[in-house]
Amino acid sequence: MSKTIAVIPGDGIGPEIMTATLRVLDALDCSLSYDFVDAGMAALEKHGELLPQATLDKIAEHKVALKGPLTTPIGEGFTSINVTLRRHFDLYANVRPAVSFPGTKSRYENIDIITVRENTEGAYLSEGQTLSEDGETAISMIRNTRTGSTRIVRYAFELAVKKGRKKITAVHKANILKTSSGLFLNVAREIAKEYPRIEFNEMIVDNTCMQLVMNPQQFDVIVTTNLFGDILSDLCAGLVGGLGLAPGDNIGTTAAIFEAVHGSAPDIAGKGIANPCALLLAAADMLDHLDMVAKGDRLRQAIRDTMTSDRASVTPDLGGKGSTSSFADAIVKRLAA
Ligand code: ATP
Ligand code: MG
Repeated sequence: MSKTIAVIPGDGIGPEIMTATLRVLDALDCSLSYDFVDAGMAALEKHGELLPQATLDKIAEHKVALKGPLTTPIGEGFTSINVTLRRHFDLYANVRPAVSFPGTKSRYENIDIITVRENTEGAYLSEGQTLSEDGETAISMIRNTRTGSTRIVRYAFELAVKKGRKKITAVHKANILKTSSGLFLNVAREIAKEYPRIEFNEMIVDNTCMQLVMNPQQFDVIVTTNLFGDILSDLCAGLVGGLGLAPGDNIGTTAAIFEAVHGSAPDIAGKGIANPCALLLAAADMLDHLDMVAKGDRLRQAIRDTMTSDRASVTPDLGGKGSTSSFADAIVKRLAA
């Protein structure tokens, strides 16, 4: 049975890494069809708007999208496209795996942490932000709901089950933010009881930062609220060598969008040297989401093997002499073997 996904090539290096990624996906034989749609500068040039209704309709229809990096023009009147997509599809879970890869410059080896960040509430509210007239006092608000906390914690546990992960750490600051972080923590404790096979522990966010830096291998899956998740997921990316290999999954109630965490990298666009791995890893997560976990794992392993044994083919950012297409070719060859 064939499944169709919406594909947004994106801006800058987007089309280059998307071409490479789709070529690899085809080699995996997952019976996927692609419905190409526009967003970002590409859409502005073709259709006069950054996020055409037709694009939203296609994502809603197929429920799954693979997305290249998008550029939002700087200046008044443009809301970030990513924020618009998040709100439109209620993309409440931002999932950010941080995994060590061979041959990358990083402080640690053998890290494999998934951060599951709540992405619709917490400290990221557009309302409730005030600055007094004399400029003296700024107030912002945190709002956590039982419903919002429940769905993010449940998502994290279900992900752990699906991917055979062993431990979930709920990260909070309930000792100080007694109501908001306290509600999140209480919900996490309650839901944890439903999953006796998964080890549950809780950790205060400041201690988590120290533990991540000193002994990151102790973490498996982290689930946390919006602001802490924003910070911790970048910290974890830094532990394994930065954003070059970082996928980001945005899971919602009616759709899920898979992307690379990095931007459109205009400085190297068109040169054929962009590293396709972040988008490829996002595609692997998409396969997990589509219940093709074995194919997702095969893809991750092929990327890993290529980085270990075929150093000449990898892109310059990883210390290789290759190009986007030589990297993709090498991965395809491994999948065929
Ligand atoms: P945007 O405005 O879209 O965020 P950016 O230039 O900030 O674009 P980033 O992705 O944040 O894009 O890029 C930061 C740096 O990392 C740039 O020098 C860029 O060339 C490099 N970079 C980003 N992604 C890749 C990639 N996939 N392969 C190689 N280098 C990359
Ligand atoms: Mg940037």
